Amino acid sequence: MSLLEVKDLTAAYGRHTAIRDVSVKAEAGEVTAIVGHNGAGKTTLLNSVAGVLRNVRGSVVFNGTETLRGSHRGRPPGLAMVPQGIGVFPSLTIGENVKLGITAGGKVPKEVADERIAVAQRYLPLLGERWDERGGRLSGGQRQMVSIGRALVSGASCILLDEPSVGLSPKLVEAMMEVFGTLRDDGLAIVLVEQNVKQALTIADRVVVMKAGRVIVDSSASEFSSRESLWELF
Ligand code: ATP
Repeated sequence: MSLLEVKDLTAAYGRHTAIRDVSVKAEAGEVTAIVGHNGAGKTTLLNSVAGVLRNVRGSVVFNGTETLRGSHRGRPPGLAMVPQGIGVFPSLTIGENVKLGITAGGKVPKEVADERIAVAQRYLPLLGERWDERGGRLSGGQRQMVSIGRALVSGASCILLDEPSVGLSPKLVEAMMEVFGTLRDDGLAIVLVEQNVKQALTIADRVVVMKAGRVIVDSSASEFSSRESLWELF
């Protein structure tokens, strides 16, 4: 069984159905890229899985537990979401901003918290170097790293990222992709929403293409890269 199994997910804003019958899986130790044009439904899919949206039908099973219905409804512990372009409080230090994520998956003893902070700093050295600086002084890319750090200290085994490369310099994007690669190699499931397919293919193990609220391709990254017919869908 996959770490995350989304089946026949349909989500609506009022009477407008934004995604329909979407099924995707994310495996531990893999990067699953979700690509598609503006309005394809990528953000809606992530928000539905993360328990942010309520008007959702279908099934989301994380780590063997259905999270769309029943007593476990909501964002499951172990699953973290890095939303697009938000989430750093300028008046808090970088360290304080990151630590906000520690209790996202439930209360933890201090030793566990300290260990998670050390791990996050190891993946994202920038955080450690500038731990006591104010969040307001960071560039867009650095803020993105803080959001990723916050997801890491929650102890997540699956991280959903909504277009983390938007607005970043190519150099920072490269650094960030490297971090995702290391997290994947260490066994995390990474679900990466990306508008730039080429960018996604530098790191993805699987590629899911969405169009008009539906999944139109779900393939291994190597098959996607080698089959021109799949590229032509873009
Ligand atoms: P983008 O790359 O622009 O974020 P996306 O693939 O993430 O696009 P969504 O933002 O999920 O797509 O949007 C899917 C559909 O749902 C679109 O038709 C969009 O207009 C609609 N939609 C998104 N958010 C809302 C909202 N809050 N209220 C009403 N409709 C919405």
